Amino acid sequence: MNVIMLGPPGVGKGTQAMELSKICGIPQISTGDILRANVKQGTPLGLQAKAIMERGELLPDAVVIGIIAARLEEPDCESGFILDGFPRTVAQADALEEMLTRQGKRIDHVINVQAGDEVLTRRISGRRTCRSCGRMYHVEYDPPSSPGICDTCGGELYQRDDDREGTVQRRLEEYRAKTQPLIQYYSGRGLLREVDGEAPRETVLKSMRELLGV
Ligand code: ADP
Ligand code: ZN
Repeated sequence: MNVIMLGPPGVGKGTQAMELSKICGIPQISTGDILRANVKQGTPLGLQAKAIMERGELLPDAVVIGIIAARLEEPDCESGFILDGFPRTVAQADALEEMLTRQGKRIDHVINVQAGDEVLTRRISGRRTCRSCGRMYHVEYDPPSSPGICDTCGGELYQRDDDREGTVQRRLEEYRAKTQPLIQYYSGRGLLREVDGEAPRETVLKSMRELLGV
């Protein structure tokens, strides 16, 4: 099963993608995680990505398309994948369609997770991420058992640079201008499934499992 998670920053698609990945036994492919790993390792890609991400802007299409093209060739994608954070522009969606066609594959479902700006801003500003395993928490709504420490792996929790208030507005603007058109794009192809991202986490997961039949 090949799935795309679509939705604005902070809506919880990464958290849900991680759950679904475990349930379905297929990889979660997060362009944000891949880019952050490159920043941490100080690769040339990481150096380019750091400044752009801190401004809340999108990386050039060619760069992320290259990353995904290589990732989808990996053997663990044979039985399916969950794309989280890609595609984010129409050009990326077109490139994805081309790649998959070449591999004799196609997208089965595009899950569009929605929430209002106020909820998104509150979620992003309280979000904390595990440096080691990437699991996400919220200081109020979903705190770890002991502050600053990941329940899953004991890693250190931190606030992403682009989760600070100054950057969040820019990310929402980028989403509206460049990513929102993908809702039309995929509904036109009959692939779009809607989920209410303002519902509690367990409810969101349940709706997604029903939609996917898993
Ligand atoms: P969120 O899920 O909160 O939107 P991500 O971790 O997916 O955040 O992405 C963080 C940043 O990484 C984005 O703001 C952008 O700068 C960059 N990025 C991630 N995916 C893409 C993409 N498909 N195209 C361009 N830039 C991307
Ligand atoms: Zn962790």
